[in-house]
Amino acid sequence: MANNHRNGTTHRSSLNKTDRPLSVNSNTKPTSKSKSLPVSGLRKSTTASLAAASAAFKDDAGVPGRVRVAVRLRCHNAEEMVADADFADCVELQPELKRLKLRKNNWDAETYEFDEVLTEFASQKRVYEVVAKPVVESVLEGYNGTVMAYGQTGTGKTYTLGRLGEEDPATRGIMVRAMEHILADVSLETDSVTVCYLQLYMETIQDLLDPTNANISIVEDPKTGDVSLPGATLVEIRDRQSFVELLKLGEAHRFAANTKLNTESSRSHAILMVHVKRSIEGRDMTHSGENGNNNHIIKALKPPIVRKGKLVVVDLAGSERIDKSGSEGHTLEEAKSINLSLSALGKCINALAEGSAHVPVRDSKLTRLLRDSFGGTARTSLVITIGPSPRHRGETASTIMFGQRAMKVENMLKLKEEFDYKSLSRRLDIQLDKLIAEQERQQKAFEDEIERITLVAESRISEAERNYADSLEVNPFSTFQKERLKYQKDYMESIKKLEEKWVINQQKQGSETIIIGSKDGTSNERGSMMSVVEELAEVKKLLPKETQSRKAAEEEVNNLKSQVAQWKRSEALGNTETLKLRKMLEDEAHQKKKLEGEIALLQSQLLHISFEADETRKRLDKGGSDKVRGGFDSLMNQVRHAQLQDSGNGEKASIAKLFEQVGLHKILSLLEAEDADVRIHAVKVVANLAAEESNQGKIVEAGGLSSLLMLLRSSEDETIHRVAAGAIANLAMNDKLQSKLRAEGGIKALLGMVRCGHPDVLAQVARGIANFAKCESRASTQGTKSGRSLLIDDGALPWIVQNANNEASPIRRHIELALCHLAQHEVNAKDMISGGALWELVRISRDCSREDIRTLAHRTLSSSPAFEAEMKRLRINY
Ligand code: ADP
Ligand code: MG
Repeated sequence: MANNHRNGTTHRSSLNKTDRPLSVNSNTKPTSKSKSLPVSGLRKSTTASLAAASAAFKDDAGVPGRVRVAVRLRCHNAEEMVADADFADCVELQPELKRLKLRKNNWDAETYEFDEVLTEFASQKRVYEVVAKPVVESVLEGYNGTVMAYGQTGTGKTYTLGRLGEEDPATRGIMVRAMEHILADVSLETDSVTVCYLQLYMETIQDLLDPTNANISIVEDPKTGDVSLPGATLVEIRDRQSFVELLKLGEAHRFAANTKLNTESSRSHAILMVHVKRSIEGRDMTHSGENGNNNHIIKALKPPIVRKGKLVVVDLAGSERIDKSGSEGHTLEEAKSINLSLSALGKCINALAEGSAHVPVRDSKLTRLLRDSFGGTARTSLVITIGPSPRHRGETASTIMFGQRAMKVENMLKLKEEFDYKSLSRRLDIQLDKLIAEQERQQKAFEDEIERITLVAESRISEAERNYADSLEVNPFSTFQKERLKYQKDYMESIKKLEEKWVINQQKQGSETIIIGSKDGTSNERGSMMSVVEELAEVKKLLPKETQSRKAAEEEVNNLKSQVAQWKRSEALGNTETLKLRKMLEDEAHQKKKLEGEIALLQSQLLHISFEADETRKRLDKGGSDKVRGGFDSLMNQVRHAQLQDSGNGEKASIAKLFEQVGLHKILSLLEAEDADVRIHAVKVVANLAAEESNQGKIVEAGGLSSLLMLLRSSEDETIHRVAAGAIANLAMNDKLQSKLRAEGGIKALLGMVRCGHPDVLAQVARGIANFAKCESRASTQGTKSGRSLLIDDGALPWIVQNANNEASPIRRHIELALCHLAQHEVNAKDMISGGALWELVRISRDCSREDIRTLAHRTLSSSPAFEAEMKRLRINY
């Protein structure tokens, strides 16, 4: 009943459509009566055969397998025959439709559908085949399986499951038939069948095979969730009879235990567990034997696979409610405890049937034991037993509902297969021992064989010797042979002597002719000796030649060898040379890059220095009325000079020189240089260039304005802001650049710079605005511009008004001028009035220390009808 094994609702609903026969009254409360059954909702195959039913149980491994539920009706017993004689049965079965009708009264019935409906005439064999056989088959294949009977006491649970059938084999129940089935299928040499038999009563598990074992605990594997009962007696079963004896023993112990506890067996649950362990070694060994030895090894090293199926057969306690008053001799607590496992089972099945998130598996020992049977990995088959008596209609109805709910429980069947490393190790040990023994045997056989051969050889030799000796003595040729041997010996000796002599002579006479003779030698012998001597002389002659040519060859080889060695050395040398050169090349490239960077820096510095030198020279030439300031910080003053004075040919020439020398693009590109100093130098140069009217257009065209604005955006440096503002202010002097300057955001950039608050920056901003206003005013007068001032459009007015009376005079002057320029055009008047500029103009016209500006303001105010009207309205005396 493990949650994690439970199938999701999606699967369940898909099953409802196809596989699931339960389409009528699948809820606990039936909604339709038999009279008005929707035919389309019924299972189509009304002729479903046993085989089909059996096949329906056969789901594949790892696939969902719903709990199958069969209902079995018991025939009337003697007591019912009498008592219920005048009453109709409470149920009516329609086995061919797999339906059961539960009568409410004479007119009304509820219909339920089951996986199998077994009438009172159903044989035990058929019940086994329908209910248990598919489960046993699964167990033999390596799955877990559960067969469980549920029903009121006396309805035939024990008859269905536990009947031994000794007197009548036809009445054998599921336990015996299942064991017969298993024993017929397994091979007792490689497989094993073990059983334990238990009783669960009042949350205590007793061993029915060993009554002293009265409180067995359940152990759960935390990894797999498998439950086991290590304390239970396990008995190996090898034949049917020993199993029947075991069941009898268990039954006797059950009876004794229940007598002791003063209860009936109907109050306890009997649980039979059959463990089937099968080795499937060799089934998938399909290598065909080209190399028998290798196959043998592969086979030997592959651990055998074992499949461990477990069949659990549960004969539940009677499902009827026991009297809560404890009339059977139990206290209320005991009564609760007796029912605990059964009601917990009901709760778990309800939870599983409803797809509830929590399944209270841990509430009782029974549900813990059966956690794999409901919602787990086992194939589970439930038989619910009912009686026909109308007196027990209530209990029968409740049993039917239990069965209906159980039909909704989905299991996920899983093969219990594992590698049997123990048996592999055993097998390898045996094999090793066999090989050692075999090797010893072979060694021994080999030694024996050698000994035998030696003996045979020795005996043959001695025999040959004997024969030889005999033949020497006995054979008629023996004298001749002796003679022959003697001659041979003599012959050898004479040759030896001759050779010695020859050597001595050789030494003595050098190349003199050698006369070899022997009184005793025959002419033949002499001839052959001569030829030997000649040959030797020939060989001797050849030898020095041969030695010489060999020496020459050796020399040649040595020569070649040394050449190869030399060549190798020079090759190695060449390699290192190449590496060295490559390294040098890389260093050079690196150096070049570095130098290029330095050149850029130096170029920018050079630019500035040359410019500065020109400036200085110019001032000195002029007589030095202005104080010559060193360094770049005086640059803005120089810019102002450049702007305000017609600075003469010298300066113009120097700037022209700059252009020529470096090129505008290069100068502008330095505005984006990485080095901050380079940027500062560059912006100063650009500001200076921008002071020249002839350069202004070129700077803007070449993208200088954008570069300046970008530099302003990316830099917080005050010098850059000041110089850049100066540059923009210079550009703003140019009538032709007005629209471009504004379009690229120049005005806004100027206004943005006031944030830094530095008076020098503010002065440049004010100058820029004044320049812009002046050009704009000129354009308006000439009629090339119409409409409101772009300065007002870009929101400059508030800052202008605010700084019109700035205490720094350079700022104040520029703003005063700007205001006068703006005021000259009626189109700006409305905004200027509402923005407070009128007051400032009035003030300027009265208080400005510079007379020309004062006059300009006055004239401007008096020439504007809008200003006049407003002043009148405000009663400003003018
Ligand atoms: P339970 O175990 O449910 O309490 P039992 O199996 O002990 O019920 O059955 C009660 C009685 O009914 C027994 O005498 C049993 O032989 C009889 N009985 C039950 N089912 C059948 C059946 N299908 N055919 C014949 N007798 C049955
Ligand atoms: Mg019973």
